[in-house]
Amino acid sequence: MENTALYSDIHFSSPVVDAHCDTLTVLRKQNRRLGQKSGAGHVDLPRLLSGGVNLQFFAAFVGPDYRDDPLARALEIFDLFFEEMNACADLAEPVFAYPDIERAISRGKVAALLTVEGGEALAGRLEVLRMFYRLGVRGLTLTWNGRNELADGVSESGTGGGLTGFGAAVVREMNRLGMVVDVSHISPRGFWDVIRESAGPVIASHSNCRALCDHPRNLEDDQIRALADTGGVVGLCFYPDFVHREAPSLDSWLDHVEYVAGLAGVRCIGIGSDFDGIESVIPEMADATRLPLVTEGLLKRGFSPEEVRMILGGNFLRVLSQVLRDDKKASTI
Ligand SMILES: [Zn+2]
Repeated sequence: MENTALYSDIHFSSPVVDAHCDTLTVLRKQNRRLGQKSGAGHVDLPRLLSGGVNLQFFAAFVGPDYRDDPLARALEIFDLFFEEMNACADLAEPVFAYPDIERAISRGKVAALLTVEGGEALAGRLEVLRMFYRLGVRGLTLTWNGRNELADGVSESGTGGGLTGFGAAVVREMNRLGMVVDVSHISPRGFWDVIRESAGPVIASHSNCRALCDHPRNLEDDQIRALADTGGVVGLCFYPDFVHREAPSLDSWLDHVEYVAGLAGVRCIGIGSDFDGIESVIPEMADATRLPLVTEGLLKRGFSPEEVRMILGGNFLRVLSQVLRDDKKASTI
């Protein structure tokens, strides 16, 4: 009983960051609003708040269904994001600069960070990247599983393709603008090209360890070490296929945490749920309200409260404090 109170105390006094969800993609289809608690899907603001989540990355996923005009699809999702933010300003605030995160947290609201998943949204133009920044986008997952103008995704790995010249220019421009570079979904060659090209920390917003679960979307040991060397963070994901081949569970998810801690240290571990982007989740993680179970599991495994705070969100906050500009004046770019 005492322990339960302690777990809860540590969870709700820690910064909790989820580096990836696809909620913006499913919101309209499921006929729900970000500000209203729903039984459908995994994430809405009331559920984030009851799960103790302080900062949520919201991805504008530009999937293969929108191949004809990915830029238009991205703009449509950005509009949805800000419409939803306006409709529930009492529950969340959008993040443009690092102080916005601190302010939202101090007000008991969810800090909401807009990202794009799938570089095809840039339509092959750096001008579009800069306009995305001006519209509030602060992170880009360079590819999804296929090939785009920036690089090859994991499903194209067989061809050995990495970053294109344009992709390399995008990474450099993201470094300059203050945007988070995300390598989840990219091909192995692309991964190493990004590690070489990026001047700042590189994250994998939603990927696990290949050594524990052999899936092409998971990262090899040397990839995890290299990413940690950039000061980056791996957001460990709740998708069963990435957690364990036979028995995916919170326990086997915690194995990934312990494995990365042993391999590259606690400083590179975070959470990237992939909520609302996956048709199933590990059983204990039915939705965002279950995040306190992560804290309980980590403490039971012997991580110190300080390490738990880093894993829950401190590490991602460190990356954001390094990457994001300290001002919110887009006109300065
Ligand atoms: Zn994804």
